[in-house]
Amino acid sequence: MSNPPSSVADFAAFIEQCAPESLRGSRQGAFDGFWGGRQWTHENPDYWVWRDRCLTHGLTAPTWPKAYGGAALDGDAYAAWEQALVDAKVPPPVVGFGLTMIGPTLLHYGTKEQKQQHLPAIVRGDIRWCQGYSEPGAGSDLASLNTQAVRDGDSLVVTGQKVWTSYAHLSDWIFVLVRTSRGERKQQGITFLLMDLSSPGVEIRPIELISGSSPFCEVFFDQVRVPLSQVVGAIDEGWGIAKALLGFERSMIGAAIAGQLKGLEQLLVASARSALGQSEGRLSDALLRHDIASYAMDEVCYHEVLNRIDDARRTGRTPGPEASVIKLVGTELKQKRFDLEMRIAGQRSLGWEGSGFEPSELDTTRAWLRSRANSIEGGTSEIQLNILAQRVLGLPKIGS
Ligand SMILES: Cc1cc2nc3c(=O)[nH]c(=O)nc-3n(C[C@H](O)[C@H](O)[C@H](O)COP(=O)(O)OP(=O)(O)OC[C@H]3O[C@@H](n4cnc5c(N)ncnc54)[C@H](O)[C@@H]3O)c2cc1C
Repeated sequence: MSNPPSSVADFAAFIEQCAPESLRGSRQGAFDGFWGGRQWTHENPDYWVWRDRCLTHGLTAPTWPKAYGGAALDGDAYAAWEQALVDAKVPPPVVGFGLTMIGPTLLHYGTKEQKQQHLPAIVRGDIRWCQGYSEPGAGSDLASLNTQAVRDGDSLVVTGQKVWTSYAHLSDWIFVLVRTSRGERKQQGITFLLMDLSSPGVEIRPIELISGSSPFCEVFFDQVRVPLSQVVGAIDEGWGIAKALLGFERSMIGAAIAGQLKGLEQLLVASARSALGQSEGRLSDALLRHDIASYAMDEVCYHEVLNRIDDARRTGRTPGPEASVIKLVGTELKQKRFDLEMRIAGQRSLGWEGSGFEPSELDTTRAWLRSRANSIEGGTSEIQLNILAQRVLGLPKIGS
């Protein structure tokens, strides 16, 4: 690899040389990769080999400063790295909420000690993180959260409950919003805390879904002691940091979706041809033709907006309300794409497990079902519309 590497060709050569054979062409989706943490297991040891080879070049956290184990790539070089991975269908060496959510937040708001403690462990994939925001009474209305933290000496003592905590049962640490006081506005008195999930008083209960899998958990805190050194920012002033992290989360969801939404028009046309029994020419179903064309135009526009946002980010800006645009449009576009695939498949889309269907048909139905959650996680579409109405268009809040 040339020094400093910057082009797709540079990174393609590195991947050719360093990515184990079994990982080339293997990438399934945006979240496929080495999730790490103390509990992570995989039948393929090459995930560790790939992680180790990238680590020595700082490529597990390509844009992070070298001081924490990153490669300090600029925006263009990072885009080239991503493109080379996509071209080779190789998973990124490390993935997870550490890299995409809490890491960027600590880079901006963490103390020197917090950065030194947590960032290198994320870069190596040693510690897996989960997100403790939602509570039974606080989802969209996140600032209504009630998990209490009371100061006792040099600790905060946390009692309460989180819900929908993705992969808490596989994680080592949680970033959690707690209430330390009540002010005039509910956004006041919230503190942003980093907590070791092995602390006494933490109980994690996986929630079993209708699919049989349990990606979500409830997390209970019973007088959990967290050192004050794990408070990010100031006590009572965590709301701004919580919102900044949501910006990173929404950008991550939008970017992951963008990778899945490139050039799908041809794929949709090919599936439609096969379903309609047509080998060539214009699709005979005029409505379907119209809807695929409409989807394809939206896809092009979406990527244009992403490029514009990327350009802004290259100048060093952290994601603001534009993260809501990416999240809103990306998730709805993805749902539109799967709606079309389901429509084209007709009754072949009715199965979601068992025999009688091709594996690819079952995959499509499951992906369609999963895409419904995209417009809920990380803040619902309605909430993104509210943010855009108020913070971009300057419209008044309903009821104010
Ligand atoms: C796949 C997935 C993964 C998740 N992972 C995590 C995680 O790891 N950690 C975590 O903390 N949370 C997680 N969540 C929870 C997620 O953040 C919440 O589900 C989401 O914020 C919505 O909150 P709620 O479910 O309480 O719905 P509610 O807030 O009760 O909303 C119900 C409906 O009312 C609408 N609504 C609510 N308020 C308004 C308003 N002011 N204006 C207009 N419409 C409104 C909503 O859009 C929605 O349609 C996850 C959710 C999903 C689906």
